[in-house]
Amino acid sequence: MSPDDAGFGADNLPYGVDEAGHVVVAWRHEVIDLVHATGLDVGPEVWASGSLNAFFALGPDAWAATRAQLQAGLADQPDRARRPRHQVRLVLPWEVGDYADFYASLEHASNMGRILRPDGEPLPPAWRHLPIGYHGRAGTVVASGSEIPRPAGLIGPGDPAAAHDQPGQQPEFGPTRRLDVEVELGFVIGSGVARGQSIPVTDAERHVFGVVLVNDWSARDIQAFEYQPLGPFLGKSFATSVSPWVVPLAALEPWRVDGPVQQPEPSAYLKAGEPRGYDVGLQLSINDQVVSTTSSAGLYWSMAQQLAHLTVNGSGVRAGDLLASGTISGPTAGTEGSLMELTGGGRRALRLGDGTTRTWLADGDKATIRGWCGPRGGPGWLSLGDVNGTVVPCGQEVTPP
Ligand code: CA
Repeated sequence: MSPDDAGFGADNLPYGVDEAGHVVVAWRHEVIDLVHATGLDVGPEVWASGSLNAFFALGPDAWAATRAQLQAGLADQPDRARRPRHQVRLVLPWEVGDYADFYASLEHASNMGRILRPDGEPLPPAWRHLPIGYHGRAGTVVASGSEIPRPAGLIGPGDPAAAHDQPGQQPEFGPTRRLDVEVELGFVIGSGVARGQSIPVTDAERHVFGVVLVNDWSARDIQAFEYQPLGPFLGKSFATSVSPWVVPLAALEPWRVDGPVQQPEPSAYLKAGEPRGYDVGLQLSINDQVVSTTSSAGLYWSMAQQLAHLTVNGSGVRAGDLLASGTISGPTAGTEGSLMELTGGGRRALRLGDGTTRTWLADGDKATIRGWCGPRGGPGWLSLGDVNGTVVPCGQEVTPP
């Protein structure tokens, strides 16, 4: 079995949705179409509903029972339920409700602070007290493989990549010249709570169905001009790509790790027991040339802390909501999760393995994020698959993936 197929073993079993709207599960080199699967308590009406939301609605006990029934009956599935994985075209696997993006990596937040505010404190004053985030645009969360048209917007007069950089000049409207990626992990809420309620940090993981890879595409020049004081708006809202496979949180159980020490100690509603993190390896490639390899193990604010924070004001949360970690960066060169950091804010070009150089993404570039747990091909190796997208020129109409 190839390492790629081994990464989709019986301890993984991620869920996706195919072009026909059927829920499918990846197993080795195949998918199992749950509409035709045997041995499941949950009926075909849920599996033919076009998204995972109907399954989310059944709740954590049904998710656990289905997973156990699938694992027990993998070898007994009829031929009509099985297809080669590479032949199956996958779509966005769930209807995305609200989308929030956090800023949970200490290394990323510190790198960004040093680039954007070289003379100030790298971290904003609240950063160590709460998981900083912003509400993103759910309607532009797109399936892996979707084309990403280069966005246009107002670019400030002082921007280093702008055509004119004289002080006092007017901002300039045009296609972004600083198109970037952000390597992130997203978690999909499967079970919500009503407005007026909050989710205690100790209970947060019960509300999470699973994990996806996220690319939070970012136009750094548009973002730089607009972001103060309310945060990013058009610089990020044009597209967010997610991987087609939603890996159940239960599959990540063996890959729990203690998080970094939190100092000062978090407020009571954010105090989480250990192990609070997950060790997911992540790799960013541009045109199949690897530019960064990192891991989620060192994330300062955990998924549970993010969800507890999001709901502590009584905002509630709904099944289908997507919460993303923010860019995941490590402490050393080559572990940064964005071109912004890899190029020092655009000051150093990056040499790709094919001999070309990049500071920001060019039209035609394909960015891919891969995710996994464990040593590749080794015992327990688990694949999260990948999320990819290709940049197309500004204004180009997009074709479905
Ligand atoms: Ca982000």
